[in-house]
Amino acid sequence: MPPGPSAPQDEWAPPLGATLDRMGLAHVIAPDVAPERADYIVYAPDSGLQDFTPFTRARAVLSLWAGVEAIVANPTLTMPLARMVGGGLTEGMVEWVTGHVLRHHLGMDRHIVNPDNDWTLRPPPLAAERRVTVLGLGALGSAVAQALARIGFNVSGWSRRPKQMPGISCYSGDTGLAEALRDAEFVILLLPGTRATENTLNRDTLALLARGAFVLNPGRGPLIDDAALITALDEGQVAHATLDVFRREPLPQDHPFWGHPGVTVTPHVASHTRPHLGAEVIAENIRRSEAGAPLLHLVDRSAGY
Ligand code: NDP
Repeated sequence: MPPGPSAPQDEWAPPLGATLDRMGLAHVIAPDVAPERADYIVYAPDSGLQDFTPFTRARAVLSLWAGVEAIVANPTLTMPLARMVGGGLTEGMVEWVTGHVLRHHLGMDRHIVNPDNDWTLRPPPLAAERRVTVLGLGALGSAVAQALARIGFNVSGWSRRPKQMPGISCYSGDTGLAEALRDAEFVILLLPGTRATENTLNRDTLALLARGAFVLNPGRGPLIDDAALITALDEGQVAHATLDVFRREPLPQDHPFWGHPGVTVTPHVASHTRPHLGAEVIAENIRRSEAGAPLLHLVDRSAGY
């Protein structure tokens, strides 16, 4: 377990150790174990670890994060790579997206900051009258789509491969993107950061949305062409963008997103792996590997996610 800001040893070692104990798996969890003696690498992408060559006997890299763009193309990584699915990530993302969608859907800002004590009656539409599109129908996107559909929103989704989900209009592939986005009033980006997904929201695709749409990006910064988004905000094509992830993080102080009245910046907080839950996912994969069973949540390195 290499040290890193998001995976301090004292936060992860106790729950992981307790779970491995419960599974009857002998272990030593250490940040500074000699690389050639490590059987598994519990990996945080911000740990700084880049060279996996010295880990000659490691059987797998088990990432604490869902997004793997920082490691997926690493040529020194020759062992299987599993990413985080579960560990509290899904619940956290559903809560973040639902909260920010409802903020805009209900027009909450108008009442929270109301210096003139305005009493104009402007009831919001019902959720069923709102078209919401979720780009990415994986572990997080599918849970978000289903949660919003349960509230009553009219939900569409888009994925690389064709999918069927009850209550969701599903589109896929390059041709499906325009259909998924056309007239959408909310777009939520939950795609991975890959070469194929860069600038998915650009001048042309932003123009497909309903005028005055809301954009939420808890996926990855490069999914959006920043300049095209600012133009769309300035022209009223997009009413508001709530952004959690950026091309550079922390978002530089002089970035136009910070001061733009149509942008809410949240500092990559949409969802985090919780050690007491994530430990179960990591330990289960160690148990499987030791038993010769296939690992869960393996990354498809050719697809990049
Ligand atoms: P998954 O891998 O489970 O899902 C990814 C989805 O994107 C899949 O539906 C996949 O399609 C689709 N997709 C990938 N490439 C394309 C493409 N070229 N065209 C169309 N669809 C595509 O990932 P998760 O749901 O677990 O996570 C999604 C992302 O969320 C992560 O990669 C990470 O970047 C971000 N994230 C952000 C967090 C935050 O705090 N802001 C926290 C956690 C994750 P298919 O189903 O066909 O494979």
